[in-house]
Amino acid sequence: MSEEGKELFEKVKEKVDRLKENTLEKQFSDFWKMACYAKYRSYEKPLQYADSVNDYIEKNKEELTQMREKFVQNIDSYVETCIKRLEKKKFRVYYAKTNEEAHEIFLKELGDNKILYKSKSNQAKDLGLIDLCKENNIEIKETDLGDVLVQLFDYKLPSYQVGPGVHFKVEDIVAKIKEKYGVELIPEPAEIVKYFRNTYRKELLNDVKVSLTSANAIAAEEGCVVLLENEGNISLITRATEKHIVAVGITKLVPTVFDALLVTKMVERTNNADLAYISLIYGPSGTSDVAGTAVKGMYGAKEVVVILVDDWRTKAIHENLFYKELVNCISCKTCNFVCTASRAFGNVYASKYGLGALAIIKDYIHNGIEAAVADGLFLCTGCENCSNWCPAGVNLADIMRQLKKEATEKDICPPYLKEYKDKIFRDKNPFQ
Ligand code: SF4
Ligand code: SF4
Repeated sequence: MSEEGKELFEKVKEKVDRLKENTLEKQFSDFWKMACYAKYRSYEKPLQYADSVNDYIEKNKEELTQMREKFVQNIDSYVETCIKRLEKKKFRVYYAKTNEEAHEIFLKELGDNKILYKSKSNQAKDLGLIDLCKENNIEIKETDLGDVLVQLFDYKLPSYQVGPGVHFKVEDIVAKIKEKYGVELIPEPAEIVKYFRNTYRKELLNDVKVSLTSANAIAAEEGCVVLLENEGNISLITRATEKHIVAVGITKLVPTVFDALLVTKMVERTNNADLAYISLIYGPSGTSDVAGTAVKGMYGAKEVVVILVDDWRTKAIHENLFYKELVNCISCKTCNFVCTASRAFGNVYASKYGLGALAIIKDYIHNGIEAAVADGLFLCTGCENCSNWCPAGVNLADIMRQLKKEATEKDICPPYLKEYKDKIFRDKNPFQ
């Protein structure tokens, strides 16, 4: 086995060993096991609607996968249509071939602003915008309460993307608030929420100059940005702002607004959570109430900028790369909840792009096979739960298999696998 392989193996082993001690990884993993189990169980029950999540997936999976296939087959023309429609609706639209091009556009749009209010982090991570802000001393102000708590604790490890601060204990949160803001709160969730409502909400209503979100979907034929949320922070920072920047990979595009609603409904249902708002944004705010003259920027955002980023996406489709099915992903996170490795290893089985297989594959795309191995690629059991449960028909398990193959060919798989392979070749028998 190569020296590099040994080093990567030790790195992963060290992270796994941290789960045996009283560490942040252990704290997260205990919570995560419970959360995944609860989510998984809840899929069978009709909780908020007359049907269960399983029934809903069953009923709508075919329509969703067909829609994604149609989109992928015609991706170039959908991108072209989308840009034209968005421009017609007075969005300022950019098409960036690479993440680097997107970075230049983003910095140009940010101008002299050094504070960015943000929500929905996953795409921003994938596009490299979080690292870019850090490098350029741009202060990111998270607005989703979970992300606000993550910032409060300065929590650096990957977290649950849909509820990023949910593993923090109430007592620890009030202690942090006291330490940071000198305010003593009763250790109750409602008190903590009230505190942020009474303080941060005012700032979000009055001080936001530039905000950044991604989108759950963008409808190409109508030119409409669709965003799903439960807190109202996205509604605030996309309206009460001068400039709203939407940065997304082009695979967030869907043919029509009805398709966009199908995507958001699927995300809502598979998360089985209370999601209060769907925003359909058709352009900057405006009015024609003064002498019938159209003027942009009434109460809502004066400018809405959309940065569509290709980077690895059309290359994966046109060159038939083994991870091309990722372009069908609707970011519902179901694959995390049902993943045996994720449940066992929590945020040890993860990358800087988030939890689980999807985040590990993204790390591979951006940083190569060594990065994927260091993220715990070989902790994947090959159980195929992710593929079986994916409502968009993405075969994640197969992509993980291909990654393991590449790592093995490069001689950077764990030593025990090499020994096992040698035994099979020697004894023609995988068993004792
Ligand atoms: S791969 Fe499938 S299950 Fe996982 S987030 Fe994407 S759409 Fe959801
Ligand atoms: S195949 Fe791997 S990534 Fe997929 S659910 Fe099983 S352990 Fe998780």
